[in-house]
Amino acid sequence: MKNLWDYISGESKIALTMKQVVLYLTVVMACIHTLLFMLFLYFGVYMMAAVNTVSVSLYIGCFIWLRFEKSPYVVFNLCYAEVIIHAMLATFAVGSSCGFLLYMVCMVPIAYYAAYSFRDSRHFVRPVIYVLVTMLVFVISKCAGWVFGPMYHIGNSFFRDIMYIINYLLVVITIVAFMSTFLIQIRTLEELMIKKNQKLEVLSTQDALTGLSNRRSINEKYKEILSKNETYSVILGDIDDFKRVNDTYGHACGDSVLESAAEVFKTSVRNGDVVCRWGGEEILVMLPQCGKDTAAQIAERIADGIRKTLVISPDGAKVKITMTFGVAGPGEGGDIKDVIKRADNRLYYGKSHGKNCVIKEDMAAL
Ligand code: GH3
Ligand code: MG
Ligand code: MG
Repeated sequence: MKNLWDYISGESKIALTMKQVVLYLTVVMACIHTLLFMLFLYFGVYMMAAVNTVSVSLYIGCFIWLRFEKSPYVVFNLCYAEVIIHAMLATFAVGSSCGFLLYMVCMVPIAYYAAYSFRDSRHFVRPVIYVLVTMLVFVISKCAGWVFGPMYHIGNSFFRDIMYIINYLLVVITIVAFMSTFLIQIRTLEELMIKKNQKLEVLSTQDALTGLSNRRSINEKYKEILSKNETYSVILGDIDDFKRVNDTYGHACGDSVLESAAEVFKTSVRNGDVVCRWGGEEILVMLPQCGKDTAAQIAERIADGIRKTLVISPDGAKVKITMTFGVAGPGEGGDIKDVIKRADNRLYYGKSHGKNCVIKEDMAAL
C-alpha cells in the first residue's frame, strides 16, 4: 500500500520504462474491456460486446508482441487508437451520458507523456497531432449523438450515472498513473543529473591519482583571499630524486610514493588550506591568513612527515623519500604568480644546496 501511495505521489524510486508502462497498460486495458464486454452483454448491446471482444484480443496480442518487440512505439499507437475508436463507438451505441467521451480527455496528457518518452530520432510523437485527432473524434461522436441519438437505451438514468462515475474514475486513475510515472521519471533523471554534475565538479577540481586539488582551485582560493583582503603564504614542495624512485622501483611504486606524500600534506594542513598537485611531483599549498614564518613551520612539519613515510615497493623493498620546500608570501610584493615564482626560486636554491630542506628567504638577499 505504501509503495502504491509513494508511486502515485511521485515519491517512488522505481522509474518504469515506457515499455513497462505500455506492457502494464495492455494488461489493465484487457481487464477493463473484459468487464465492459460483460456489461454490454448483460444490457444486450451486442455491437459493443463484439467491439470489446476485438479490443481484448488486440490487447492480448499486443502483450505477446511486446515480449518480442524492443520498442513499444507501435503497440502504444495501437492502444491510443483503440481507446479513441472504442470511446467513439460506445458513444454511438449508448450515448454520451455514459461518459465514454471522458476517455478522449485523458488521452491529451498521455499524448504529451508519449512525446517525452519517445524522444529518439527513430520514434517520436508530435503530441499536437494526437490531440487534434482526439478532439476531432470527440466532436464527431458528440455531433453524431445529437443527429442520430444512441443506438441502444440501456438501464435507467441512475444506471447511466453509475456508468458515468465508473468511467470518470477510470479516466482519473489513468491520468494519475501516467502523470505519476512522468513525475518519477523526471525526478529520477534530475537526481542522476545532479549526481553526475557533482562527480564532474570533483573531477574538474581534483587530481585523479592523489585526490589533491588542481591548479584551478588555487586560482579560486586566491580570488576568495583577494575579496576578503586577507594575507596568505604558499609552500611549494618537490620530491627529491623522484626519477630514481621510478627508475629503481617502477612507475607504479612511484605512484604509491606520490599518494603517500599527498596524504602527509592533507593531514598536516588546516581545513581552509588548499593542497594542490602543481606538477608531476610538485605539491603546492596555499595557506590563507597565515604569515610566511608560520608557513615555514608547517613546511618543516610536512618535511618531517615525509621523512617518516615508508612505502613498500612491489618487490618488498622499503622506499623512503625526502622533499625540498620553498616558502613565500605576498609581503615582498607582487600577485600570486610572483609569490609562487619566489617560492619556486627558493625551492630551486634548496635543490642545488643539498635538498631535504625548507627555504623561506632569497638566499642572495641574506
Ligand atoms: P630533484 O630532486 O631535482 O627534484 O630530482 P627528480 O628526479 O625528482 O626530478 P625530475 O624532474 O628530474 O624528475 C621528476 C620525475 O617525476 C620525472 C617523472 O617521470 C616523474 N613523475 C612525474 N609525474 C609522475 C607520476 O604521476 N607518477 C610517477 N610515478 N612519476 C611521475
Ligand atoms: Mg623532484
Ligand atoms: Mg620536479
